Amino acid sequence: MSDYIVRATAGNGSIRAFAATTRDLVQHAREIHHTSPVASAALGRMLTAAAMMGSMLKGDKDLLTLQVRGDGPLQGIVVTSDSKAQVKGYVFNPNVEIPDLIPGKLNVSGAIGAGHLSVIKDIGMREPYAGKIELVTGEIAEDLTYYFAQSEQTPSAIGLGVLVETDTSIRRAGGFIIQLLPDATDEMIDRLEKKLATIPYVSDLLDMGQTPEDILNMILGDFDLNILDKIPTTFYCNCTRERVEKALISIGKDELEKIIREDKKANLHCHFCSKEYDFNEEQLVALLDEAQ
Ligand SMILES: [Zn+2]
Repeated sequence: MSDYIVRATAGNGSIRAFAATTRDLVQHAREIHHTSPVASAALGRMLTAAAMMGSMLKGDKDLLTLQVRGDGPLQGIVVTSDSKAQVKGYVFNPNVEIPDLIPGKLNVSGAIGAGHLSVIKDIGMREPYAGKIELVTGEIAEDLTYYFAQSEQTPSAIGLGVLVETDTSIRRAGGFIIQLLPDATDEMIDRLEKKLATIPYVSDLLDMGQTPEDILNMILGDFDLNILDKIPTTFYCNCTRERVEKALISIGKDELEKIIREDKKANLHCHFCSKEYDFNEEQLVALLDEAQ
């Protein structure tokens, strides 16, 4: 497998940890959405976080959605993951170009601006769980850390990184999430904080050839790290022509008749994977019978 997530525990079960390498899926996202380097970095960090958070979901049909809305030129990002870490996502404005804040570091927070982060978990309840926080930095990792502390009362350390080549392809992508569970001792928390302060950027670690296993070892090697499993993560969109037909039927007979009368065709575009679905007059008329 090329992209994967490693799941682990440490500190006698009082720490849970995830680390991922996601270069191929972020590259796929860049290719289908034609994202600029800073947009690739923002989308890549969100996809990486969603993949790890998706792998925390328990049920087969559970679904996680992360949304960012900001007043910067990128405007927003939407990503989803299922419990198998199959992710998809898009940014509202893929063409954003802004100067780097620090030379060589893409200005993700500048592209996003001030705004909100929402986490929506559809875990089979009547109402999906939703948590919303104000963006802290717009760098995404810090914002998610704040979300976990505020909305899930789970102290976390999160690193997310995307390294973009000069030809705009993705060189490295990945990240980690370390979480303290309620029985973590103060001594352990203190020791972990000191350790984390010495850890380089995750994109630099990946670029030095470190694997997700190496990264967890570096952070949690002194905490009885126990690697539980390794699961693949991929970019996957579940849109199909059948689902698009259902969406067209659901707009209702009047709307559908209007499209047939005025346009004689319909072209629908999936935001998540950029796939196009074309319907000619005959195909639209066939859908009319099912519409109300
Ligand atoms: Zn799609």
